[in-house]
Amino acid sequence: MFKKLLIANRGEIALRIQRACRELDVKAVMVYSEADKDAKYVKLADEAVCIGPARSTDSYLNMPAIIAAAEVTDAEAIHPGYGFLSENANFAERVEKSGFAFIGPTPEAIRMMGDKISAKRAMTKAGVPCVPGSDGPVPEDPVAMRRMAKAIGYPIMIKASGGGGGRGMRVVHTEAALVSAIQTTQAEAAAAFNNPSVYMEKFLQNPRHIEIQILADQHGHAVYLWERDCSMQRRHQKILEEAPAFGIPRRLIEKIGERCVAACKKIGYRGAGTFEFLYENGEFHFIEMNTRLQVEHPVTEWVTGIDIVRHQILIAAGEKLPFTQRQIPLRGHAIECRINAEDPFNLMPSPGRITLWHPPGGPGIRVDSHVYSNYVVPPYYDSMIGKITAYGDTREQAIARMRTALMETVIEGIKTNIPLHQELLVDARFVEGGVSINYLEGWLASHQR
Ligand code: ADP
Repeated sequence: MFKKLLIANRGEIALRIQRACRELDVKAVMVYSEADKDAKYVKLADEAVCIGPARSTDSYLNMPAIIAAAEVTDAEAIHPGYGFLSENANFAERVEKSGFAFIGPTPEAIRMMGDKISAKRAMTKAGVPCVPGSDGPVPEDPVAMRRMAKAIGYPIMIKASGGGGGRGMRVVHTEAALVSAIQTTQAEAAAAFNNPSVYMEKFLQNPRHIEIQILADQHGHAVYLWERDCSMQRRHQKILEEAPAFGIPRRLIEKIGERCVAACKKIGYRGAGTFEFLYENGEFHFIEMNTRLQVEHPVTEWVTGIDIVRHQILIAAGEKLPFTQRQIPLRGHAIECRINAEDPFNLMPSPGRITLWHPPGGPGIRVDSHVYSNYVVPPYYDSMIGKITAYGDTREQAIARMRTALMETVIEGIKTNIPLHQELLVDARFVEGGVSINYLEGWLASHQR
């Protein structure tokens, strides 16, 4: 096992990884930007190294500074968390070339999955069902573009191969709008992702977003840790997730889970990963794979009792997964609410000083957050300040516990999206279960204020 590990991230996930290190008796090195110098988790770390100014390009995305921090502190491994450099194949490569273990898949696997076109190709080859669409980038000739779109059938979605974070997607309903939509998306993708390549996919009208969590070790063994339902999204960003997915027959989940595991073995995947699917009319369609830890991993930890971050570290250290597929439990139900520093209804970020922070507690409640009273939420990063997860024997109990937890939570000084979560948790359609990815946008539109 490693003696020392560097955490190349910030906020709640930095603290989450630090906790896993403590449990494994691994010393934790934190890197931080000038904006995060007073954060408690930085002070709690065994060692901490400032890697630059607030702007992420100067700090959390600054590869040489992070690798230098690992060198001066004699760390043996680097955990990238999520976001920032976690899915950057060049970073993983530089980490390994510098002699450190990268807590994640190989640079080749990250590269293959980071490009959505090559990811879909690999998955099709490995027998994972994909959303029908172009087998590669869209052609340059407008006539060929139209022919392709017609064959797929409108509405279609134009997606950037290098896209992420809900950006680089455009729906096209008619042939008249096709060519200009493709050109606009290409221009945007070139600017945002440094990669103008776009592809076409059938636009599914009312699917659910269902994802499969997997763990794979370096000895050819892989398992799936069931599924999560992340359909509650706005602007393609998840805000509330749950496990298991309501109403989907277990045998269908098992079947797709087995496909994912087989694909992992086929591509030599190692570490934690997530296969994202759109689920419609009883069928799964692969959209992309995330080659990292997900924000919503705690709901899976609740229902399986398996600590995903711990296993990421153990896998990177070369250990074998200690369980077989049949030994993976699925108990009860868990829900996660992402707590964002933002206006609950118009989404405007609300950074600033938290004058009072009182987190909830009680049976089945878990709080993953780095904040505290008097903590100042910096304006430079993602607005998520923590996650509250609730577990229950049943979905009803998990929802009831979450309602109580949100009622107990006190956050003063900044705005948060808790009022939105509170309304959703009493919404009859949500409580019934199984809403589609369009539900929240529709709900918000009819609750304009
Ligand atoms: P990102 O990498 O930006 O997260 P994804 O490919 O994972 O992009 O898609 C994010 C979300 O966009 C999905 O959860 C879904 O809501 C929507 N989406 C993506 N592809 C399609 C599609 N073919 N049809 C309908 N909705 C889609």
